[in-house]
Amino acid sequence: MSKAIPSLLVQGYEVVIGFETHTQLSTQSKIFSRASTAFGAEPNTQACAVDLALPGTLPVMNKGAVERAIQLGLALGSAIAPRSVFARKNYFYPDLPKGYQISQFEIPVVQGGSVEFYLGDEKKSVRLVRAHLEEDAGKSLHEDFIGQTGIDLNRAGTPLLEIVTEPDMRSSAEAVAYAKELHKIVTWIGICDGNMQEGSFRCDANVSVRKPGGPLGTRREIKNLNSFKFMQQAIDFEVRWQIEQIEDGLEIQQATVLFNPDTGETRAMRTKEDAADYRYFPDPDLPPLVVAPEWVERVRSEMKPLPRVLAQRFVKEFGLSEYDAVQLTQTKETAQYFEATAQISGHPKLAANWVLGEVSALLNRLQVSINDVEVPSPNALGPLIKKIAAGDVSRAGEKIVFQALCARVRDELEDLAKFIEQVIDANDLKPMNDTGALEAIVDTVIAANAKNVAEFKAGNDKALNALVGQIMKASGGKANPGQVNELLKSKLA
Ligand code: ADP
Ligand code: MG
Repeated sequence: MSKAIPSLLVQGYEVVIGFETHTQLSTQSKIFSRASTAFGAEPNTQACAVDLALPGTLPVMNKGAVERAIQLGLALGSAIAPRSVFARKNYFYPDLPKGYQISQFEIPVVQGGSVEFYLGDEKKSVRLVRAHLEEDAGKSLHEDFIGQTGIDLNRAGTPLLEIVTEPDMRSSAEAVAYAKELHKIVTWIGICDGNMQEGSFRCDANVSVRKPGGPLGTRREIKNLNSFKFMQQAIDFEVRWQIEQIEDGLEIQQATVLFNPDTGETRAMRTKEDAADYRYFPDPDLPPLVVAPEWVERVRSEMKPLPRVLAQRFVKEFGLSEYDAVQLTQTKETAQYFEATAQISGHPKLAANWVLGEVSALLNRLQVSINDVEVPSPNALGPLIKKIAAGDVSRAGEKIVFQALCARVRDELEDLAKFIEQVIDANDLKPMNDTGALEAIVDTVIAANAKNVAEFKAGNDKALNALVGQIMKASGGKANPGQVNELLKSKLA
C-alpha cells in the first residue's frame, strides 16, 4: 500500500473527503422485479421487461431490499423514515436504455447515523447524511478484440443502497479506515457480500483541499474505487494534484474523475452535473415506501450484535484487551471461532492468543479462511488449550500437537482429548516438571555464558533472553519459559 499522508496538513492544506458508497444488496432478485441478481450469467439473460421499463410493466418494491436498508440504519444509529419516496433520475447513457434510474431523492429511507472506527489508536466518527435505495444500471462491455462495445443489461435493476457521508474525513488513511469499517459492517450484518472485484461494494470519494479554517474547497469526485489500495493511491494523487493546481494559481473545477491504476493518476471524465440536470421527479409507478414501526422493531429484534458490541462483550466477559477484542471481531467467522474455542477450552485469554497467533499465522501461510478444512476446528483446538492451561504439554510440544490437529478429519475422532494425549505421549512432549533437572541445566548454561551473565548484571535485559533461549534449547523445548525466567533471575540476583 502506498504510504498514507502522515499528518492532517499536506503542504499547508487541509484535506476534506466525503464518501458515497454503493453497496449491492444481497437479495436473490432485483429491486423492482423477480429477475435474478446472480453474478456471472451470460450477458442479457437476466434482465426482464420490468428492468428495462418496457411499456405496460410496473415495478414492485422488493421487501428484502427494504429490510436490508433498515438493518443498515439500525446498525449505524440512523433514523428510518416512516415514509420515503422513489424518484426518477433522468439521464441518457447507453447502459440505461430506459432513460432514467429509479432512486430516492428528497426523502431517503435511512437518515443520519454514523460510522465509528479506530485510526491507529485514535477513535473516529464519520457522520452519515443518508442511505437511499436505488437500482443499478447495465454495463458497457468494451470488446477490444472486435473494436466494439456491447451492453450487458443483467445488472439493470440490481438493488443498491447508496450510503453518503458528511465531508468529515481529513486524510486518505482515514477514508480507507472508514471504508474498511463500513465494509466490515455491511458484510457482518449480511446485507452485502462485500465482493469488491465483482463490484458489490464501490466507493466514490469526494475530495477537496482548503487552507485550514477557510471555506470548503471545490471537490472532485473519484468514481468507482473498488479496492482499498487504489482508494488510497487515488486520493493521495488527487490531493497532490489539487494543491499543485491551486499553487499554480488555477481554480479547481467541480468534476467527476476516474482513477487509472496503471498510471496511478486521476483524470477528469466529465464536468459535474448538479441535481437540476437530472430533472428528478417522484416515480408515478411506485407508491411511497411506508415502513411501519413494527417492521423496524421486528428487524431490530432479529439482528445479531455488531462487531463493536461483541468486542465490548469480549473485553467485559473474558477480560481481553480492547485491541485483541477488535482483532477477534474483524469477521463474524473469526468471532464465532474464537467464542467456541474460548467456551470449549474454558480459557478465553489463552484461546484469544491462539486464534490471533498460531491460527492466524496458519491462515496467512495457507491463504485459507478460518472455517476451511486445513484449520483445526474449535472442537480440536479447545481441548489442546485445556491441556496447555493444565501444564500438560511443553512449549515446543504445543506446536507439534497443533500441527497434528491441522487436518479436520481429526474431528471425526470420537475423543479429541484422547488423541491429543496420544500425540503428547508418542512424541514425548510433556513439559519438564523436575525442578532439580531444570536447575542443573540453568547452572550449566550460566557457567558456559559468562559474557551474557555479565551483560545482564550490567543492566542489559536482552542478555537474559539469550540465556533463556539457551536453556530452552538445552531442555529440548520442555522447560517452562516463565519458570526458567524466574529461576535465572533469582540465581543472577
Ligand atoms: P451530490 O449529490 O451532487 O454528489 P452532495 O452534496 O450530496 O452532492 O455530496 C456528495 C458527497 O460529497 C457527500 O459525501 C459530501 O460529504 C461530499 N462533499 C460535499 N462537499 C464536499 C467538499 N467540499 N469536499 C469534499 N467532499 C464534499
Ligand atoms: Mg454524487
